[in-house]
Amino acid sequence: MESLFGDTYEPQDEKSRLFADVILPVPIPKMFTYKIPRNLAEEVGIGYRVMVQFGQKKVLTGIIGKVHQKPPKEYEAKTILDVLDTYAMVNPLQIKFWAWMAEYYCCHIGEVMNAALPAGLKLSSESKVQLNPTYDADTSPYPLDEREEVILQALATKAELTYEDCQELVGVKTIHGILKSLVIKEAIIIFEQVKDKYTPKVENRIRLCHPYASDKQALERLFQEIAAKPKQEEVLLKYLQEIPVYQNPALNSKGVEKKVIADAGLSMSSLKTLIKNGVMEEYKLIISRFEDKEGSGEEIKLSEEQQRALNEIKQGFQDHQVNLLHGITGSGKTEIYIKLIEEALASGSQVLLLLPEIALTTQMVGRLQEVFGSRMGVYHSKYSDNERVEVWNGVISGKFAFVVGVRSSIFLPFDSLGLVIVDEEHESSYKQYDPAPRFHARDAAIMLSWLHQAKTLLGSATPSFESFFNARTKKYGYIQLNQRYGDAKLPEYILSDILVDKKKNLLKLDFTRVMREKIQEALNKQEQVLIFQNRRGYAPYISCEDCGWIPECEHCDVSLTYHQFSEEMRCHYCGFKENVPKVCPACGSGKLAAVGLGTERIEESLALLFPEARVARMDLDTTRSKYGYQRLLEDFGAGNVDILVGTQMITKGLDFDRVTVVGILDADRILYFPDFRAGERAFQQITQVAGRAGRRERKGTVVIQTRKPDHYVFDAVMKGDYKNFYVNDMTERQKFFYPPFVKLIKISSRHKDYKTAEKAARHLHNLLSDIQVRKIMLGPEKGLIGKIKNQYIFESLVKLDKSGNAQAVFKQELQRILEEMYANKEYRSVRVVVDVDPY
Ligand code: ADP
Ligand code: ZN
Ligand code: ZN
Repeated sequence: MESLFGDTYEPQDEKSRLFADVILPVPIPKMFTYKIPRNLAEEVGIGYRVMVQFGQKKVLTGIIGKVHQKPPKEYEAKTILDVLDTYAMVNPLQIKFWAWMAEYYCCHIGEVMNAALPAGLKLSSESKVQLNPTYDADTSPYPLDEREEVILQALATKAELTYEDCQELVGVKTIHGILKSLVIKEAIIIFEQVKDKYTPKVENRIRLCHPYASDKQALERLFQEIAAKPKQEEVLLKYLQEIPVYQNPALNSKGVEKKVIADAGLSMSSLKTLIKNGVMEEYKLIISRFEDKEGSGEEIKLSEEQQRALNEIKQGFQDHQVNLLHGITGSGKTEIYIKLIEEALASGSQVLLLLPEIALTTQMVGRLQEVFGSRMGVYHSKYSDNERVEVWNGVISGKFAFVVGVRSSIFLPFDSLGLVIVDEEHESSYKQYDPAPRFHARDAAIMLSWLHQAKTLLGSATPSFESFFNARTKKYGYIQLNQRYGDAKLPEYILSDILVDKKKNLLKLDFTRVMREKIQEALNKQEQVLIFQNRRGYAPYISCEDCGWIPECEHCDVSLTYHQFSEEMRCHYCGFKENVPKVCPACGSGKLAAVGLGTERIEESLALLFPEARVARMDLDTTRSKYGYQRLLEDFGAGNVDILVGTQMITKGLDFDRVTVVGILDADRILYFPDFRAGERAFQQITQVAGRAGRRERKGTVVIQTRKPDHYVFDAVMKGDYKNFYVNDMTERQKFFYPPFVKLIKISSRHKDYKTAEKAARHLHNLLSDIQVRKIMLGPEKGLIGKIKNQYIFESLVKLDKSGNAQAVFKQELQRILEEMYANKEYRSVRVVVDVDPY
């Protein structure tokens, strides 16, 4: 275990604190040793951000991962240029967590740091500030103090701030570091980043200087002092009349906005004299970006079923670190979470609740906010840098003992987690694809929780087969909730055969007869409808009816999606766009047709089929703005929309009582996916989207359009037969060596030249095959999509034996092989991507 997590022991004696190992955002798998300047030895430790020189020309910001006495063997340690923090931004537990992540997911700790820190804390790490090569500190014509003066002046002019502002914002300590190594121009670049990212939101206010605020006698003394200046006294009296601060000192302590003063009929210039004479002062109020709200403090009443589950979870925590709550859609998992969170907080622990990206702006967060108020921090990717930094600091300061967030919230600086909940734990969006670390937030959260000796609760209506496997093998505790909350019933399913309707000429604009009827019935009863199609745009592609030509992306091996609204064809992999040609470039025919179904087209068809209905669309294209998703949902909840068509976005966590019909337009797209998880995923997606129907007293109906109504997945979904489905799927996985029976690692080689990519992949594959552990290797093969962003992709798949040390040995050897490969001129420009537990 020592080597796994690194040694985060920190010598207390300042004389022993000679060297710091610094984590830097560079693609080299280790930390770098720097000398700690003597004058800073007392002020730094693990988790402080420092500025260091890297190579000849770069200055980077890194984080101290270790403090010790040993000079590095291979190189002469440079001295840390400066320390950026007055307290640790990252705690030792986090460093251990980063080290674990780097090792498990085969990446560099610097990459983990990059993913972990909100951009607002990363400072110059990406700007690659250039050192001035001709500058020599010892022969500089300016003494240090003067240089500081010069640089501050320059900053002041450039940034249109006062000298004091600059000093306050940049911090004198940082200025020192910059000064020692940079010329003014570069310092300004840094400064502007600092200014943007660190400037708290401040409001300029005015208040009385302290002793006069609450003390009437002191005020009288003051009046005597300024008796000779009746104008000032008049102003002051008026101020006190309008803003009675000595009756209510709180009014003074936060100061008064200039606007309020103007409204009271006081001129700013007369106040200026009072400020000059030290009677009043200007004051900057730092404002939180988050509203202050009290929690409701309401007492939550659980149903009998919920109470039983809660008791079982608590029981489960006695002997299992991880427990799985398998509760059908609408069973009321949220209220159970709330109870557990309240108890953990009351015992003084921190709590983290993970939600999939999309679910985060929904009702659930609103519900939690109602209960917990501003004790709860929200960590979301649509938040600004500043907001994220505020949550980060709020966790350190104790303001947020409870955070609900997306996958990156596992990196927040918790130091005493007691409970980690992963809701919708089966969600594939918990997996980060690019860039490294390619972690799975659920799995990483379990590790994080383990490091804190905390408890973990995984929740889902359709658990991932991995988690269910762990429950069946008693590695996890297991709790079931089989009833919907209240009297709600599970929905009824109708399978509608597209081919049958087509033959009978009953298919209208891609809607079967029964689908249209069910929608119409719901509309007649003023109920709402959700239509699911996991494909945005108008049509998956355009095709020439005469010669079959299909437009493809110039940079990727995919066809271009047709977006009618913007009148263009777009690549969903690289963003490339092109106008739709008037005639086929291959044969000159004018017959170009849009083929297949995207959400845009379905929206259009619905408007034609149900002209009286109000139709809205929810997909990536309609929810790009920060509150786009929320606004659409509010509209839907308020009943301003009758039919909502959308991608997987509408499957997650929506809880609306008037939704009675859910339509799945092309279920076959979900069934046939070349992946060993295809069945599991189809079961999950259909069950989840169906679970949006009939969540209260009205019964729901789910209509599924398919060309394969007898497919076994439908049968399992309709019967709600998760277990049987699982057992069948597991038999297959065991037979063909797939997780959870083996550990999968995907290794892809990417290069702009086809031959080079292929050759590198073969070379790598052969070296990996030689590693002496129990494993099966597949490939190398062209990727499922052979080219993305002009890079050709070849992949090898490794299936490792899970028992013994095959994993550890393989990963170690892999790292060695990759280092060798990068040292080889032939392969230096090949990008190798390692994906552990790929999805
Ligand atoms: P799940 O997440 O399990 O699908 P939810 O937590 O969304 O289910 O609960 C379904 C509905 O039942 C929600 O509208 C929720 O407010 C309501 N509900 C659940 N438990 C309670 C409770 N104990 N008291 C009141 N309402 C509840
Ligand atoms: Zn053609
Ligand atoms: Zn492309």
